[in-house]
Amino acid sequence: MRAVVLGSSPWSLRVTEDWPEPVAGSGQVIVRVLGVGICGSDLALLSGKRQAPAYPWVPGHEAFGEVAATGHGVAQARLGQRVVIEPNYPCMGCAECASGRTSMCQDRVIVGFTAPGVLASQVAVPEAFAWPVGRHWTDTDAVCAEPLTVALSAIRRSGAAAGCRCLVVGTGSQGTLLCVALAARGISPYVLEPHDGRRELAVSLGARAARPDDGGFEVVFETSGAESALTEAVSRAAPGATVVLIGLGGEAARINTGLVVRRQLTLQGSLIYDHPRDFAATIASPVRSPGRVLRAAYPLERASEAFRAASEVPGKTWIRLT
Ligand SMILES: [Zn+2]
Ligand SMILES: [Zn+2]
Repeated sequence: MRAVVLGSSPWSLRVTEDWPEPVAGSGQVIVRVLGVGICGSDLALLSGKRQAPAYPWVPGHEAFGEVAATGHGVAQARLGQRVVIEPNYPCMGCAECASGRTSMCQDRVIVGFTAPGVLASQVAVPEAFAWPVGRHWTDTDAVCAEPLTVALSAIRRSGAAAGCRCLVVGTGSQGTLLCVALAARGISPYVLEPHDGRRELAVSLGARAARPDDGGFEVVFETSGAESALTEAVSRAAPGATVVLIGLGGEAARINTGLVVRRQLTLQGSLIYDHPRDFAATIASPVRSPGRVLRAAYPLERASEAFRAASEVPGKTWIRLT
């Protein structure tokens, strides 16, 4: 089958026609992939900042498609279903999984990073992680289901309520989706983003650009992972506010602890989502057209270009498989 594979040197992507087809194991479905979104963590893998367990490697983790085959024990009714893939498979047996916080599972399988990714004609997925969605989930909306769930989980963990004064720092694709998700929860966010095009996209989707003196935010979401952004996030937080960190910076950052103490801030990390509650919530509670954050679509043959554009173009980039 067709697949996009990454070689061991950074950015060495190629399209191959003879990648082995997956076989549906017990409890699995085969998903014929129709679209794949690109996000920052994929770029970290391509640039060599993150390593794949083996090369050549199929990248990608944000996908939707149709169930093309079912494995042993899976209902035949699933054949032909339109699905979005939840690309993190917790063990469901450890203490964290038992507590419901499956995002903290140490044995979590991470599609595209610790298990082969979705940028292929077909992938095998445990059936509980291939979520059926109706036709009202258009292609562009379905390709955003996974990062939308990341955004909605961060909002859930933040405790942000409708009408609260909220700031989003960084409006890359995840920050922009967060704005769309906040609006759907009755919150009209302010945004802080140095890149004109990214800021303008967020504003065109209903966010307000924060001015230099706008502060007193009850909930602040930091999506970039950059130290300067964290400084802004903390300095603009209101007394008693929650600062939610979503950006995976990976490097040590200095923080004004005096401000954190005096304002009695809560710093809350938020990593992906918990199974099954968060995907179930995304699908049950509609967010109007999350696909509005998409700007550029590429065919599979131009995957390389799509990944390059993803780091430069405002909004989200995706690959359409036909
Ligand atoms: Zn992602
Ligand atoms: Zn676990």
